Amino acid sequence: MRADLLQRAAARQQARAEAGLLRRLRSVTATTAPWIVLDGRRLLSFASNDYLGLAGHAQVREALCSAAARWGVGATAAHLLGGHRAPHAELEAALAAWTGRERALLFATGYMANLGVLDALLQSGDVCVQDKLNHASLLDGARLCGAELRRYPHGDVDAAARQLAACPHAAALLASDGVFSMDGDVAPLARLAALAQQQNATLLIDDAHGLGVRGAQGAGSVAQAGLDARQVPILMATLGKALGTQGAFVAGDAVLIDALTQFARAHVYSTAPPPALAAATLAALRLAQQGEHLRARLQARIAQLRSGAAALGLHLLPSDTPIQPLWLGSAVTAQDWSSALEARGFHVPAIRPPTVAQGQARLRIALSAAHGESDVERLLDALGALRQHHAQPAPDAGA
Ligand code: PMP
Repeated sequence: MRADLLQRAAARQQARAEAGLLRRLRSVTATTAPWIVLDGRRLLSFASNDYLGLAGHAQVREALCSAAARWGVGATAAHLLGGHRAPHAELEAALAAWTGRERALLFATGYMANLGVLDALLQSGDVCVQDKLNHASLLDGARLCGAELRRYPHGDVDAAARQLAACPHAAALLASDGVFSMDGDVAPLARLAALAQQQNATLLIDDAHGLGVRGAQGAGSVAQAGLDARQVPILMATLGKALGTQGAFVAGDAVLIDALTQFARAHVYSTAPPPALAAATLAALRLAQQGEHLRARLQARIAQLRSGAAALGLHLLPSDTPIQPLWLGSAVTAQDWSSALEARGFHVPAIRPPTVAQGQARLRIALSAAHGESDVERLLDALGALRQHHAQPAPDAGA
């Protein structure tokens, strides 16, 4: 007999619940960074990707409101069918200039941008070589486009080289996150660029978590690594993290952007993001560009958390980015720590399988320039108190 799809989905959900891994949608009724009101309780949040604290910035809010007054709310059509308004064009030009690329193209989300690029460039018979810890959207994009997906162990450029060398005649895309979203470490960008050049592969870097945070003027991880547009011909980044708004872009030369405009179905067949959002993002971009003081403040919080955690004997995964994972191993332990922190007034979500591999659960502590020194101090106090009751497992078991 034919399986009933909804019953099967319900059974999968039941299995996930029994494994204690059910994801829960919770209600946030107020935010004033770094505070949120979650399920009715005011908590100090270490869960946001608003790394520079721009999501609530007065100039960004003002840009959104005044552009909405002028342009209305919706773009009313896809970019190619009249939805591409002046604020979109202005933002694309500013993003290209900021990242040192010829042009940039907007997408509604980062997930769509990654699907769009892979779909536009790759076809059956090609190979897509990716870091095993790349974001789900890069992995899904490779699955959808029909190319052969090969995943190399995290950060292992030699393994990537072997995978590329094994198929010398296939057109190849080498893709990596710039900053890994659940680990916080930075990809070996210079080595990946050298490998791509040597193997005649095209390199794509997803710098969702590096843009605004790393490099001079916040131009990102690729700029910080001293790599140019020739070495990293496809640069993707999102707007919903350090820029505090929503959406994403791909930047590169005119050949790339023209091809995406024609062939990236996620761009062609989707309504353009609201023009007011583009205007707000442009305001955020200017603040991020000039935000050396914000980056300095963020770096100070990162250093404070890392040295405080080390003094408490707590193990954070190696990272100099705002993503500071506290490795706990089992999903149950990670959930226990998260719940215990919440009871003390902090929102620090547990990241569990399948977002990370089995046995690799962790707390993902996300820092922001919106955090003050006393906020991190309070978190460290709470972690220190927790450590009295719950031992942190040995990190080498899986980190
Ligand atoms: N790439 C990376 C590395 C990400 O972390 C994310 C967001 N979690 C995305 C892409 C997707 O971006 P968006 O949230 O805009 O869809």
